[in-house]
Amino acid sequence: MYVTSRQDELGVLRIVLEEQYERHTTQLALLARQARQLPGEQTDLAATSALTAASRRALGDIARALHYLEQGRYGTCEECRDDIPIELLALRPAARFCTTCQPQPDHQRRP
Ligand SMILES: [Zn+2]
Repeated sequence: MYVTSRQDELGVLRIVLEEQYERHTTQLALLARQARQLPGEQTDLAATSALTAASRRALGDIARALHYLEQGRYGTCEECRDDIPIELLALRPAARFCTTCQPQPDHQRRP
């Protein structure tokens, strides 16, 4: 078995997406609890709500990617309809655009 088909690779990414979905759902639940436990702590509340917003956004992206997987159009650029390179999807499984069409190239390294 030397050749891995794109379908196989997309199947692996589904597992990654589902894991990320669960992780963000858990994080949102923890953040909601944290927000309730810190009444009046403005700074922490601001940080918590920023994290909450980021997690919600990520959840939305992941949910859309999983929806596309169901429809069989996951991994296709929304702009030019080309296949998104698997290397890009491996880095960001919820990516919607190919390298050419990406509106805001993300050069920042994320931990
Ligand atoms: Zn494209």
